[in-house]
Amino acid sequence: MTTLLPEPAPVPAQAAPSLASTPPAAGPSSARRSWLRKLRGGGQIVESCPDWCTDNHRGDASGALIDLSHGSNFPGTPMAVFDAALGTVAMPLLASRINVDPYSDQPERRVPHVVLEPFQDEVMECLSPDEFAAVIAQVRERCDFLMGKVHAQLVKARAEYH
Ligand SMILES: [Zn+2]
Repeated sequence: MTTLLPEPAPVPAQAAPSLASTPPAAGPSSARRSWLRKLRGGGQIVESCPDWCTDNHRGDASGALIDLSHGSNFPGTPMAVFDAALGTVAMPLLASRINVDPYSDQPERRVPHVVLEPFQDEVMECLSPDEFAAVIAQVRERCDFLMGKVHAQLVKARAEYH
């Protein structure tokens, strides 16, 4: 039997955590966000977001235990990519999400990790801090190459072009 609790009134930052019967609103909050989640197959569990979670959890009022994730999304930088119909479209580059799957059967997913989308719809699923740092270094190295080699050669080629 589920006990439905009333929606809590806004609480001061130092108040005790509130327990809502529906998932909390999106966005980081000074109060720890908690809610009661009904589990598929029976039972319920109190879920609490880590401070950095900005997921709205609207779809997490019920479900399988393993399906819950907490996360924070960082949109990619838009690149004006050629599109035959539209001329150009803004394609996000290097979008990322800090994520944790607290009930995953994969230990590396039960701790915060990064999901990186180097390019839209292409994903590097579960990067540790060291792995993420290696990818950042690789991208930085590539940008240095583009500026130091390709850009420099383009400038020279334009200057010499007749
Ligand atoms: Zn959360």
